[in-house]
Amino acid sequence: MRAVFGLTILAAALIALAWWVAGLPGSVSATIGDTTIGTSTPVALVLLTLLFLAIYIAIRLLVGLTRVPRGVRRSQARRNRKRGDTAVTRALVALAASDPSAAQREAGRSRRLLGDTPLTLLLTAQAYRQAGREDDAAATFRELANGKETAFLGLRGLLRQATAREDWSTAAELARQAEAVRPGAQWLQEERRVLALRTGQWADALRLSGPDTRAALAVAAAGTEPDRAAALRLAKQAWTADPSLAPAAIAYASRLRAAKKESAANDVLRRSWATQPHPDVATEYMSDLSDKQARLKAATGLAQQNIAHPESQLLLAKAALDAGMTKDALRYIEAVRDAGLNQRRVWVLLADIADHEGHANEAQDALRHVATADPDPFWRCAACGTGHGSWKPVCEACNTPGKIAWVQPSQGVGIRQIALLEHVNDDGGRDVGSLT
Ligand SMILES: [Zn+2]
Repeated sequence: MRAVFGLTILAAALIALAWWVAGLPGSVSATIGDTTIGTSTPVALVLLTLLFLAIYIAIRLLVGLTRVPRGVRRSQARRNRKRGDTAVTRALVALAASDPSAAQREAGRSRRLLGDTPLTLLLTAQAYRQAGREDDAAATFRELANGKETAFLGLRGLLRQATAREDWSTAAELARQAEAVRPGAQWLQEERRVLALRTGQWADALRLSGPDTRAALAVAAAGTEPDRAAALRLAKQAWTADPSLAPAAIAYASRLRAAKKESAANDVLRRSWATQPHPDVATEYMSDLSDKQARLKAATGLAQQNIAHPESQLLLAKAALDAGMTKDALRYIEAVRDAGLNQRRVWVLLADIADHEGHANEAQDALRHVATADPDPFWRCAACGTGHGSWKPVCEACNTPGKIAWVQPSQGVGIRQIALLEHVNDDGGRDVGSLT
């Protein structure tokens, strides 16, 4: 309704203007050379208006023609962008489907259509990697690494390649560069932790790891730390984190000894024995004793920290045998055997005792039991089950840190704690007897 009203007003205005122009008096004449053209004022005004309109239309046409090439280019770019986006999507799908030839083809197409953008370069590199073209992938990652905004992406790709081919020194250098480009990146922290574990950089591994591996990694870090005070602190950290881990107690005690803190060292080993007896702890406890009687006395003192544990009886049996006290040795080992511990080392020790007493038949009989006895305890990785001859901070079979533990193969199969009764030896020394 408003449009109709507006058109009516406009039409009325134009009619009024035409009426006014038609009614204008006078005439217009122009003389060019000998030629004179004359006309009335209304006609001259109409002609002039038409002339202006013609000039205006000609100018617009010329401007439009100059814009045609730019428009064609824009239209082409829009088409390329659309086709390039489609190629990117197809390359991503091909990568996800592990189709390296399609991934390479689509990544190359996206690069031609969209140019060398971070996305197309990354897709190209990943497609090369999936096709096994590691050199081409590395060249593409280096292109990314050279860009200011894309440096981290390129370094990340190169780092993964170095890790895959186990080139740890190159990987460590790339990790250092990536850290400089993007400090504190979460992914990089994990990569640096793995690198530190693989290259034996224990202090770095400890710093980058969580509490569940702290004890194991601190033991390892203490072992490679050249500064004595720092090594002592690391060993203490290990023992504090896990007092039941024998290597942690031994690491701490040995460094306390190196610092002339003999009493504190022995206290650590006694507390370790009380928590979780381990033969290596006893070895460390008696490491500076050569006299067999002194070793027996020390073994007795250590065993008393956890006297009901079969490991204490085994320790006493060995120390008594070494000291020539075969009767006591036999009593201790029989207490262990009667408690249900049927491990090879028990029968070997029984054979040794029988040998010392000149009972060849009993020794032979004991050795026959070795073949059918349970295996001795050993270090085993809780992650993959691999057995190890000695404790290690990281399992070499599965590269898991902090999982190697001392296990009793027959644990929980009929072994019971030994009921014991302390008594005093004739020589006044403390000894331990057993009631089974
Ligand atoms: Zn393992």
